Amino acid sequence: MQGKFRWPEGVRCVALLSVDFDGPSHEIGRKLRPLGINSWGRYSGRRGVPRYLDLFEKHSIPATFFVPGYDAECYPEVVKDIQRRGFEVAAHGYLHEGWALGDEEKELLTRTHDILAGLLGQAPVGWRSPSGRKTARTMRVLKELGYRYDSSDKDYDLPYMARIDGERRTDMVEIPNNTYSLDDFPWFKFSMTPPSEVLEQWRREFDSLYRENGYFMLTFHPRSGWGSGIPSRAKAIEEMIRYIRQHDGVRFFSIAGLADWCLANHDHFE
Ligand SMILES: [Zn+2]
Repeated sequence: MQGKFRWPEGVRCVALLSVDFDGPSHEIGRKLRPLGINSWGRYSGRRGVPRYLDLFEKHSIPATFFVPGYDAECYPEVVKDIQRRGFEVAAHGYLHEGWALGDEEKELLTRTHDILAGLLGQAPVGWRSPSGRKTARTMRVLKELGYRYDSSDKDYDLPYMARIDGERRTDMVEIPNNTYSLDDFPWFKFSMTPPSEVLEQWRREFDSLYRENGYFMLTFHPRSGWGSGIPSRAKAIEEMIRYIRQHDGVRFFSIAGLADWCLANHDHFE
């Protein structure tokens, strides 16, 4: 355990499941027609997200869905269903901009913010950068829009209070994620690892984190192709949920739920 940090009473380890919707926005943003070989993203809205909603409901666990604005425009009923079934919807770019943004950054962040707020009647409180890119102004704009957390950084293995222009904030928190070993993308995109081996790796990651700070966040994508929307890979996620559940003192949180707890207890975090 590090410093004066602590989890809620009785909690040994927090577990977070984060789903990056990554629908056709991913292809459109790269100037590809989302048809044929480039239609992987459409699987998210049609099959992957409904499958995950059933899975999370079956196990009664909270989860957070990061949704690009364009995908919310393509699949409004699916995104509304995420909220209606009690899960968190957070923002994830407009066209999943996986490139350096210039002056258009504020306009793009605001556009997706307004799309999600208009669709759901409730503004998102969390944001995750598509592809992890941020600029010096990103956090400032998010703060102006009322966000309470960012989940893009990779520089710590616990949540910590966000810094904006060098100042430690007590009204915004960073909830870091690990997009190499606790994400499906590298395993299925680059190393073509079978789901059974990915599951074994995730179990080992969990074991290490459970022994250390007890902060475990898994990120996966409901796409076909390099995502985990298809049954065999969704099954590995279900087996991971069962594995986590076998451990004492684990509590699942939505990211907004954990962020709010961290903000209320900011003295205990860096
Ligand atoms: Zn993404």
